[in-house]
Amino acid sequence: MDRFRAAYDAERFRAEAHRLVDVLADYLGGAVAGRARDGAALAVLPATDAPALVREWTARLADEAAGDVVATVERVLAQSNHLHHPRYVGHQVPPPLPVAALADLVAALLNNGMAVYEMGPVATALEAVVLRWMADRLGYPGAAGGVLTSGGSLGNLTALLAARQRRAGFDAWRGGAHAGPPLAILASEQAHYSVARAAHVMGFGADGVVAVACDDRFRLAPADLPDALRRAERAGRRAIAVVASSGSTATGAYDRLPEIADFCERHGLWLHVDAAHGAAAALAPRHRALVAGIDRADSVVWDAHKMMLVPALVTGVVFRDARSSGAAFAQEASYLFAERAGETAASWDVGERTVECTKRMLGLIAFAAIAGDGEGLLREFVERSFSLARWFSAMLRAAPDFEVAVEPDGNIVCFRHRPPGIAGDEALDRVQARVRSALVARGSFYLVQTRLRGRLFLRTALMNPLTGEAELAELADAVRVAAREAASL
Ligand SMILES: *Cc1c(COP(=O)(O)O)cnc(C)c1O
Repeated sequence: MDRFRAAYDAERFRAEAHRLVDVLADYLGGAVAGRARDGAALAVLPATDAPALVREWTARLADEAAGDVVATVERVLAQSNHLHHPRYVGHQVPPPLPVAALADLVAALLNNGMAVYEMGPVATALEAVVLRWMADRLGYPGAAGGVLTSGGSLGNLTALLAARQRRAGFDAWRGGAHAGPPLAILASEQAHYSVARAAHVMGFGADGVVAVACDDRFRLAPADLPDALRRAERAGRRAIAVVASSGSTATGAYDRLPEIADFCERHGLWLHVDAAHGAAAALAPRHRALVAGIDRADSVVWDAHKMMLVPALVTGVVFRDARSSGAAFAQEASYLFAERAGETAASWDVGERTVECTKRMLGLIAFAAIAGDGEGLLREFVERSFSLARWFSAMLRAAPDFEVAVEPDGNIVCFRHRPPGIAGDEALDRVQARVRSALVARGSFYLVQTRLRGRLFLRTALMNPLTGEAELAELADAVRVAAREAASL
């Protein structure tokens, strides 16, 4: 057999895939139990050193034996952050559902890139189905539509490009960013950095995002919106949009959308809701009030690879009016929407609506997560992780040596350890940083940190459905022990 036939040989694929699945299943079993293969505790994040890893993999690449995919994967597993570990409470990336990971494998093998319909017929249909599913959950009308993108950062840019095209009052797509007055977006200090980045990419410059104050719960303060609008005007800028967060990144705070939507309506501003993390609250009746009013947004970004337990990256950019989706990348929406079949259906060539040309079969991956164990599983995950966050916050508040930054809206808890005998904000900041480094270095937990009101807080995002009260009680104890050890050094 020639080399190519060997490379694509179905029996070789079958044999390798079976071996690989066994390795991955053993890994998964160990990770969810927090155990290594020998039964010892599994470090959440193994100790690694970037230059050493680069050296090792450079040598492996030169090694003839590097082609053994199973051996490669074994090594990769040993050097990875274990998101399925119940003590993984770090960034907002979930342990993906295995059924969604399998769909990702299918997407990789089929590689139906789908910039145009013919390159991915079923992928295109699945994308439409997933977007419709999201639009329905958000309470959007039948005219809603959008596109799936690779990530919320790209999603925010996509939505804000549409906002500019619809609200700038001039054709920035054709004429360029300088064909009209300088523009601005209003967003709270807690907005994700990708919002400011999108403004930079669009040529708004560093002053293109006007900061709106936050209330004591880190939510955008609607009362500051009129003043923020005046600040934009005084700086000679035309404000086009307000960006609200439904689940801010640092604390998971949900902005009060009805009041923000009222303001936007009064002033003709586009309302974009960055719900990358928190849109899934719409799945749980108990938490739906957090996103009340989201159906009034002109655009919403929803990361399936956060609370929908999908492997990165699958993001819905959903517009209340599907025509806005075409406006993002072409001034004449009619070219995309109206003339083709003499009706208003969006083009089936999804590449017209996103920065990406070729992309993964994103709809398939999200579909697998929704259909695999049913929407009920996702709803239960939202309910479980949100109530666990409340439990954790209450436990910390009840302890004399902990404080929480704010009562959590969702599943992100920011807290600070106050060991007895240590006073002063700077000294306490150092404690948090040392504790985090110690826990992460030891591999006993993976958590992160964030600065709020100038002070350092430990931050946990409860992204793992297998994390429970026991792990969080152990985390509090581990923090105390690490602080004591740091003090005695
Ligand atoms: C995670 C997040 C983003 C960025 O999304 P990516 O998918 O990581 O690019 C944007 N906004 C918010 C609120 C987020 O939580």
